[in-house]
Amino acid sequence: MTTAHTVEQVPVTTLANGHRLELTVHTLRGASEGPRMVMFGGVHGDEPMGAETVRRLVAAIDPAAVRGTVVLVPVANPYALAALNRNTPLDGMNLNRTFPGDRGGSVTEQLAAVLCEILTGADYFIDYHSGGNLASVDYAYIHDEGAEMSKAYGCRVLYAGTPYPGSATGWALTHGIACMVSELGGGGQRIDEYLARGLDGTLNVLRTLKMLPGEPVAPPADQVIVGTLSTLRPTVGGTMLCEYGVDRIGERVAKGTVLARIVHPATSEELEVLTAPYEPSILVLGRESMTSVAPGDYGLMVADGSTATPAA
Ligand SMILES: [Zn+2]
Repeated sequence: MTTAHTVEQVPVTTLANGHRLELTVHTLRGASEGPRMVMFGGVHGDEPMGAETVRRLVAAIDPAAVRGTVVLVPVANPYALAALNRNTPLDGMNLNRTFPGDRGGSVTEQLAAVLCEILTGADYFIDYHSGGNLASVDYAYIHDEGAEMSKAYGCRVLYAGTPYPGSATGWALTHGIACMVSELGGGGQRIDEYLARGLDGTLNVLRTLKMLPGEPVAPPADQVIVGTLSTLRPTVGGTMLCEYGVDRIGERVAKGTVLARIVHPATSEELEVLTAPYEPSILVLGRESMTSVAPGDYGLMVADGSTATPAA
């Protein structure tokens, strides 16, 4: 095999304004035959952390050192990223609920279909997500297929959850592709730390799969697998005052502890209180001390600590 880094603009469709929608796909072809790893960033447009992690990985991985092939799509949903919006503004759809998509459908359906074509034949897949515009998060999904990837990635909390219907990983798992979802950073907090962890974690995954040379680093000794993870969504909008914010992610909190209060932004009336639902609750997504929320937003996320078992 000839070592190479190729960049391809893969056409998706032409928009009403005449702009051609394309996906930039990097292929790092290694020096020897081996597995095919695919990485997506920016499936959700309000998660630029994932896109940036994948963009930096393109530069961080030396094709000459790779066994097999690494295919990277830094920006899987370009118009959603441009709008910093979770969904595609053009049709309002959530790309990660749209797989396998439809080549004859709307923009998001066509994006999903093209991304499925890129995934087809892969052995491994990593999908890089994060908190949205106002929240940071810190965990990775773990599935039977690809469990070694999740452990090697290095997050302390691994969630053994079923992929959402229509998600990229849901599609990949039913097509024999081992995969993991990274949920790291977001919301503008501790950016360099989360980017470094995404990069280092991914290189450690590639070493674990023997797609890069070198001894992988052992996962953290306190890494746990949890069976239940809940999003605490305020049922009302307002000003969210967090008592357990971004700096408390990873902490174990007693059941019933007040995590955040939603107050009316003008009258100060306390509209809702979000409390820790589990004994203990492990905080995995947090916000700054004051943020604005809409009804049903990702307020906070907690794992059920009583379901936590050591990953090792
Ligand atoms: Zn996401």
